[in-house]
Amino acid sequence: AEGRVHNFGAGPSALPIDVLEEATKGLLNFQETGIGIAEISHRSKEFTAFLSETEDQIRTLLRVPPTHKILFTQGGGSGQFSSVVLNLLARHHLLHPDLKNEDRVMDYVVTGSWSKKAMEEAKRLGGGRVNIAADARRYSQDGKSFDTVPPHDDYIFSADPALIYYCENETVDGVQFAGEAGLPTSFPFAKLPENTILPLVADYSSSFMSRPIPRLADHAVIFAGAQKNLGPAGLTILIVRQDCLVDVDAAAKLGAIPVPLMLSYKTLADSNSLYNTPPVLPVYIAGLVLRKMSAEGGLQTYAQSNRRKFEKIITALKEGEAKGAYKGKVKEGSVSWMNIVFDVPGEGRLQQFLDGAAQRGMKGLAGHRSVGGVRVSLYNAITEEETDQLVQYMNEFATKTS
Ligand code: PMP
Repeated sequence: AEGRVHNFGAGPSALPIDVLEEATKGLLNFQETGIGIAEISHRSKEFTAFLSETEDQIRTLLRVPPTHKILFTQGGGSGQFSSVVLNLLARHHLLHPDLKNEDRVMDYVVTGSWSKKAMEEAKRLGGGRVNIAADARRYSQDGKSFDTVPPHDDYIFSADPALIYYCENETVDGVQFAGEAGLPTSFPFAKLPENTILPLVADYSSSFMSRPIPRLADHAVIFAGAQKNLGPAGLTILIVRQDCLVDVDAAAKLGAIPVPLMLSYKTLADSNSLYNTPPVLPVYIAGLVLRKMSAEGGLQTYAQSNRRKFEKIITALKEGEAKGAYKGKVKEGSVSWMNIVFDVPGEGRLQQFLDGAAQRGMKGLAGHRSVGGVRVSLYNAITEEETDQLVQYMNEFATKTS
């Protein structure tokens, strides 16, 4: 398509061009119904079939076991900051009706600005006590930055918490847990409490569908907004273990915070994600992206290509660091595959870098407004060729600097 640039933005972000072309047709005429996808009833047999195919694609690609439901909703990752607290506190009330609220602990692992925000929402809602199970800021030089995941020794989880929360990939800070379990920078699964059905919650917003999810079956809730690897904003995907589909009204009678029906996981599950009108167009585009992923060999193919893209940028970054042109912000082992953040030291150099990139048709590279610098987002739709172009530019810029 004419006039398009290479979009390295952090979200909403690039989508595959062939999917966009296909979606353009569906926007006018969805599956030969004569009705466009943005106009068709969400209860039509064509759309409900598409919705269930989309669910099956996720189940197959991620190998989601039958113990877990796949649900579609709205409200983004931010909506889930509230929903996970409400639903899992309700569950805790049903499991432990006699506990006082101050003894209902919610363990938060804080590794960046998104998990911090989620933790603050849990504090705001009340109904339980927040415990910081680990705080990555302790390890930074200034005590304020997020530039690493904490080492395994540092985590202290509660015995029978209402929830245990972490953010797998911190989109703003560029900090991610290592994908391979067992590495010191992976999530410390071995330290989690035993003798309890784990109420483990993970925000996968910015790494969903980029590589397999380690220990997926041990999670109570995994959630992700679609607008990074999967589709347009407006669709939120949930993977919820069946024991977390609780009767929130029964819990409220026991003193739990009343849960709006739209936020109750059980409501969504009982209605097959059709309690209200779902975001039909985002579901459609995400479904097309998933079809493409399956056709191209599934998650392993994408994981391998994402790793190569990551390594290419990291190599360019290190070479540029040696020349004094760049300064990576995240410690080795914790660097995200999806969002690589670095500074361009020197008066005016950052702007020069961004302007030069834009002149070459590469946009979306400015860091989050809260932290500045550069952020390279390498979601699934960014091709290896596009990555090579950016690498070439990074190398040229670094050479000119030195
Ligand atoms: N969590 C993470 C890791 C994110 O990257 C974002 C958004 N960029 C959010 C949560 C918030 O998501 P939303 O804007 O969909 O509410």
